[in-house]
Amino acid sequence: MDDCIFCMIGRGDMDARVVYSDDLVVAFDDITPQAPVHTLVIPRKHYSDMGDDVPPEVAEALFAAITKVAAIKGVDRTGYRVIINNGRDASQTVQHLHVHVMGGAPFSHGMVRFDT
Ligand code: AMP
Ligand code: ZN
Repeated sequence: MDDCIFCMIGRGDMDARVVYSDDLVVAFDDITPQAPVHTLVIPRKHYSDMGDDVPPEVAEALFAAITKVAAIKGVDRTGYRVIINNGRDASQTVQHLHVHVMGGAPFSHGMVRFDT
């Protein structure tokens, strides 16, 4: 996936404000933050979305990285929201699986608004 921006970030070919990384995943701040803390966690390897045969060890690494990012960003005690926009109806705009970790201020409880 030569032209995928998140693959480029995963390879270190594109600048990003990296928060955490290991062999399988990279976490970096969203370029257009929608919360005081807004970090994305991606697998280094390209999977377009959750239905793209993501191996269990990658899913585990993504899940483990979420709590690490929350602690690094100082929202582990105050709370945070974890979002995966998966596919068209979820308005996924970057076709490389990614997890949004958002916090730093109280969210409203309702988290869904339809775009119709
Ligand atoms: P989604 O709508 O779930 O596909 O989210 C894609 C997210 O990627 C958006 O929140 C964008 O602001 C973010 N984004 C796009 N390009 C970059 C980039 N180069 N570095 C960091 N975040 C990015
Ligand atoms: Zn990719």
